[in-house]
Amino acid sequence: MRRPLVAGNWKMHGTRASVAELINGLRQQVLPAGVEVAVFPSCLHVVQVLDGLADKGVAIGAQNCAVDPAQGALTGEVAASQLQDAGCALVLVGHSERRLLLGETDVEVTRKFAAAQSCGLTPLLCVGETLVQREAGKTLEVVGAQLASVIEALGIEAFARAVVAYEPVWAIGSGLTASPEQAQLVHAAIRAQLAAQSAEVACAVRVLYGGSVKAANAAELFGMPDIDGGLVGGASLNADEFGAICRAAGS
Ligand code: PEP
Repeated sequence: MRRPLVAGNWKMHGTRASVAELINGLRQQVLPAGVEVAVFPSCLHVVQVLDGLADKGVAIGAQNCAVDPAQGALTGEVAASQLQDAGCALVLVGHSERRLLLGETDVEVTRKFAAAQSCGLTPLLCVGETLVQREAGKTLEVVGAQLASVIEALGIEAFARAVVAYEPVWAIGSGLTASPEQAQLVHAAIRAQLAAQSAEVACAVRVLYGGSVKAANAAELFGMPDIDGGLVGGASLNADEFGAICRAAGS
């Protein structure tokens, strides 16, 4: 039985004051015991959030890490070892905004995945197709290739300590959500691809859905057999909305 995970990606949002308000709002939420909850603030606010939510049972992750795990001369980057030292438990890798807007390649994504694991962090690997790719009938090919590049480089066992998020790019921040059936089809394909190498790993790995998840559509999405929770962007900046999404994962 996979424990659902709901993860909030705060992206490049927040000031010390608004983050304090969000922490306060989250502290007031009733979070279901059977659901793992995580938030990914900007790197600048990681310590503030760790301090503010330390006793709330919410895991803290970072939105990115450097390709090399160790500290070193790499201006502007943050090493996975530094994130681990600060108290992070997870790190996002391969978010489509980084792949498409910052040109992050599958090779870099794979190195970041490995760097995270080498420091004891759980990588949350994001995969997903653009609208053009979907309309060309290439969804499974694109998602399969993104996943394959990590499996081929690091082996299937790497997914025993990782989370995957299927995030159709056309649904991110757009208000458009994949239907539960559309999402389920891709989630099942992701699990089948992993199962081709290890049924055990495939059965245990959590595959989250991301793309305009809100309280109003969460329960339907999370009710699908291969959807194990959500990666939530915009709606995670509202504590009440995010709390409701977490509760939907527990129902
Ligand atoms: C995301 O950026 O990971 C995301 C899913 O964003 P949103 O929920 O705003 O679509």
